[in-house]
Formats: sequence, C-alpha cells, structure tokens
Amino acid sequence: MELEGEELEAILRKLYVCYQCGTCTAGCPVARVIADFNPRQMILRLKQRDFAILDNFKAWYCAACHTCSEHCPQNIKFSEVLMELKNYLAKQGEIPPGTLMIYKDLEYVGIISEFTQAIARRRAALKLPEVQVDDETLKEISKLTELTGWHDIIHSVKVQVSNPKNSED
Ligand code: SF4
Ligand code: SF4
Repeated sequence: MELEGEELEAILRKLYVCYQCGTCTAGCPVARVIADFNPRQMILRLKQRDFAILDNFKAWYCAACHTCSEHCPQNIKFSEVLMELKNYLAKQGEIPPGTLMIYKDLEYVGIISEFTQAIARRRAALKLPEVQVDDETLKEISKLTELTGWHDIIHSVKVQVSNPKNSED
C-alpha cells in the first residue's frame, strides 16, 4: 500500500516514543482471538513505514476498547491513532465494504444494518413490525455525521455511495 503525506506523518509521530514493551498487545482483547492483530507489532511496522501491516483492513479489527491507551507506560493513545488512521485510510478509498454499507444505511435510512426492500418484504412475511425512522431522527443523524466530519470523509471515498433505499438486493 502506497501511503504518504503530512496528515499520515502527524499520526505516526504519536508512535515515536513506543519502546516495544508489548503491554498494549497483552491487554488487547482482539489480539487474543485474531493471531495477526498485534498492536505492538503494528506500531513497529508503522514506524518502519511498512504499510503492508494495514492490508486486509487490519485497522478496522480494533474494537476501540481503549485498553491499550489506558495501559501504555509511554502514554501512547494507540486506539486514537487507529481511529485517525481509519479516517486517513477512508479518504484514500481504503475502507471495508461492510463499513461503507453501514454508513450508507445510517445516512439514508437511519439504521445501522443493511435494510433493503427485500428484507422489508421478508419481515412482512414473518409478520414483524415495519421499521421506520422519522424525518426528525434522520435530520439529527445527518447533523451528527456532518459535525463529526464523517459525512465529508465518506463522500470523498473513491467508491460510489448509492442510496440503499433503491436497492432490491
Ligand atoms: S504499551 Fe505503549 S510503549 Fe508498550 S509496546 Fe504498546 S504502545 Fe509501545
Ligand atoms: S483499542 Fe483496539 S488495539 Fe487497543 S486494546 Fe482495544 S481492541 Fe486492542
């Protein structure tokens, strides 16, 4: 993966004082279940500018529990670094398709799950109540995505963001 730029450098500078003690990995719940997710190793490789460590959307494996940040003896906030990296990567078009789908559903229908007309038909067949989000709630969601900057980031992604309301899948 070819990555560069001042934004990236500003993020990576936050890792310079890491002395590779491994405390972050020892407490990471994701590292316990996913062998190739290792915060200490990620930090080392990032400092070496070996961005292959981010392949396969690795940054998105993080559960954002902040344990690594709370335990680091060097006060490195690795969970925040990962969030900044995800924002940076999204702007490069590197975002998991599932995450993009979640955003689309949130923005257009106000629900964080794929909710298509096909699902609506299946719910109706199962006699489940209709899922509706009122316009006021959608406006609030829209305001939140705008204020957090997420709307701008996602719409700068070089992937077509279509309206799932029109999907038949
Ligand atoms: S706990 Fe802090 S100093 Fe130790 S390896 Fe992790 S980031 Fe580096
Ligand atoms: S914030 Fe992410 S990297 Fe840090 S301990 Fe939690 S899951 Fe692991």
